Amino acid sequence: MSSVPVAVVTGSNKGIGLAIVRALCKEFPGDVYLTSRDPGRGQAAVAQLQQEGLQPLFHQLDIDDPRSIRALRDFLRDKYGGLNVLVNNAGIAFKVHDTTPFAVQAEVTLKTNFFGTRNVCTELLPLMKPYGRVVNVSSMVSSSALGGCSQELQQKFRSDAITEDELVQLMTKFVEDTKKGIHEKEGWPNTAYGVSKIGVTVLSRIQARLLNEQRKGNHILLNACCPGWVRTDMAGPKATKSPDEGAETPVYLALLPSSADAPHGQFVSNKTVRAW
Ligand code: NAP
Repeated sequence: MSSVPVAVVTGSNKGIGLAIVRALCKEFPGDVYLTSRDPGRGQAAVAQLQQEGLQPLFHQLDIDDPRSIRALRDFLRDKYGGLNVLVNNAGIAFKVHDTTPFAVQAEVTLKTNFFGTRNVCTELLPLMKPYGRVVNVSSMVSSSALGGCSQELQQKFRSDAITEDELVQLMTKFVEDTKKGIHEKEGWPNTAYGVSKIGVTVLSRIQARLLNEQRKGNHILLNACCPGWVRTDMAGPKATKSPDEGAETPVYLALLPSSADAPHGQFVSNKTVRAW
């Protein structure tokens, strides 16, 4: 078994994920895994970074596919005995003018951004080694979407006592409410992406609390973040940050020094803790 530290970035064949792998290859003292749901796109991205003189490794990962997640989990456990850095970056967003029915957008978006990210965490968080760092890439849109929720929902999402099961029930209810055409009446904002990222931010707060309760002595730090508005296929060419600039906050959180005991369980943008 290898004692080399190991980092994994989900959805890293392009965009911010690829830029996070690029930065980790330069700054992380260990093996860095670029992952992609499509091996061809993943290997092409690895080749691109090799052209830049970097040496990422590759593993397939589709966060929508539990078997794919478990295959990565088994690989990491057998080869490294765990994991030092996990960046949950993979995500999707329908374009603003997409005419796909809102209920379909809600189901598809929540499936990857919330449920897929949660499934990765369920399998990989138990593998995190002491002083491990976990970064869940959320969005400032989670904060604006929270502001668009009813007072009752806002209270639930800001609660320090909400459980993972309760969060899953709420995310499931959002999808069901969109199918019934009652999501606005039920207090939800009109953004599937926004609700999915509320889920990612709140999940991070819950997971950090569980780490405090169950693995206090392990010094693992877990945070949600916003990369900023970044020029990628998702956000388009008018966005203000380059992918490398968008990678800065996720990489800062992924490389928090072993002496750090904060931030933890926070929502961070531009390397600054934001109120939730
Ligand atoms: P992007 O260029 O569209 O890249 C998204 C990445 O996620 C791609 O590699 C994509 O793979 C991958 N992915 C999607 N579904 C996946 C799945 N089921 N399993 C594994 N990988 C999957 O988007 P981006 O702008 O870099 O976004 C990265 C993250 O930052 C996302 O979580 C996004 O919500 C967040 N974010 C972005 C911005 C922004 O301004 N760009 C702002 C705030 C937050 P394929 O190539 O196979 O599709």
